[in-house]
Amino acid sequence: MHPKPKNRPALELCSECGLCDTSYLRYAKWACAFITQHVDELEVKSHGRERDLEDERELYFGVHRQMYAARKRQPVSGAQWSGIVSTIGMRALETGLVDTVLCVAADSEDRFTPRPVLARTPAEVLAARVNKPTLSPNLSVLDEIPKIGTRRLLAIGVGCQIQALRTVQDRLGLEALYVLGTPCVDNVSRQGLQQFLDTTSRSPATVVHYEFMQDFRVHFKHADGSVEKVPFFGLNTKALKEVFAPSCLSCFDYVNGLADLVVGYMGAEFGWQWIVERNAQGRVLLDLVRDELEFGRIVESGNRFAAVQQGIAAYDQAVTLPMWIAKLMGLVIEKIGPRGLEYARFSIDSHFARNYLYVRRRHPGKLERHVPRYAKKIVAQYALPPE
Ligand SMILES: Cc1cc2nc3c(=O)[nH]c(=O)nc-3n(C[C@H](O)[C@H](O)[C@H](O)COP(=O)(O)OP(=O)(O)OC[C@H]3O[C@@H](n4cnc5c(N)ncnc54)[C@H](O)[C@@H]3O)c2cc1C
Repeated sequence: MHPKPKNRPALELCSECGLCDTSYLRYAKWACAFITQHVDELEVKSHGRERDLEDERELYFGVHRQMYAARKRQPVSGAQWSGIVSTIGMRALETGLVDTVLCVAADSEDRFTPRPVLARTPAEVLAARVNKPTLSPNLSVLDEIPKIGTRRLLAIGVGCQIQALRTVQDRLGLEALYVLGTPCVDNVSRQGLQQFLDTTSRSPATVVHYEFMQDFRVHFKHADGSVEKVPFFGLNTKALKEVFAPSCLSCFDYVNGLADLVVGYMGAEFGWQWIVERNAQGRVLLDLVRDELEFGRIVESGNRFAAVQQGIAAYDQAVTLPMWIAKLMGLVIEKIGPRGLEYARFSIDSHFARNYLYVRRRHPGKLERHVPRYAKKIVAQYALPPE
């Protein structure tokens, strides 16, 4: 298991991105997403401009040129979804676009403990497929970059890792950097993960993979191939309230706004991956696998507002519904609830409102400076409990 970082300038808000395990610790005060929020500036650095807050899609999903619903025609066995991320990593090495891919493999003894690697071969990238649903010190390998002679790097990571990387990228001595991100929300320490599995799954020891799905259920895949589905509304909110990492409860970069290309699922219909191409470098990454993909439609339907507003109060009061009601609600909302991009907005609104309340209560002195402008605008659409 990754030892807790010795240096934690962000204190309890440390997301264990790994930067402070390296000589880049000296830039942490500026680079850490939880110490100095400077997303506007980093958007300009990464994409040439800030997101347009008057454009609803940019407000929510960040600077982008295009979005796609897609999946691999031949899925990568054992990947989180169809393996688009791993395939881009492999093709980037095979074509010579880069010479190294920063990704995260699993510990040999525990599939959910992350082990960051600088992969030099497609086989190493493939071995890093599937989510390690825990805080991962991806940047802890940065000091190795000059030692192994990396000149052209593809970095795969989640928002907090990418914000820190973007801040120090000009100091890495690279000729080229490509950034492939995934959305990320509600991450946990390894210990927190165990608590989540123990509280939520019928068989915690056999879970190999899970995802909070667009059908409003958590899907647990077990070692025997069976899939267990637990409705969001049936989660034991009281037991889980403190399970997510404080950094994730203070995060407003759900959609990885600084990556060149983002591959997730939340803006696509069930069964499809969702791709956000933010800039020209993102297009280069997507082109590496375009011929291997099947493309679907980006859809948006339903209306999220009432569900989000009700959810804010229910979460705040830690309401846990009886399972039969939760299942019924899940069925109804799946039929008439928000879909596609509207589902993504539902999830962003719910998490941003919860996180805004968390920062307001736990770190009131940070609130104004820490919450990005786009998140303030999103949260302002809802009535929040009084201070
Ligand atoms: C912690 C976490 C939470 C996520 N939450 C959401 C969400 O709410 N909504 C959404 O749309 N998508 C989310 N995603 C992304 C989604 O689950 C898939 O990872 C993504 O769609 C890519 O699927 P794939 O089959 O192409 O990936 P694969 O080909 O299986 O590759 C997965 C890649 O993820 C990297 N990785 C694994 N674990 C971590 C980690 N802890 N930190 C950084 N990188 C990691 C690996 O290096 C690997 O390259 C999340 C991902 C993570 C890691």
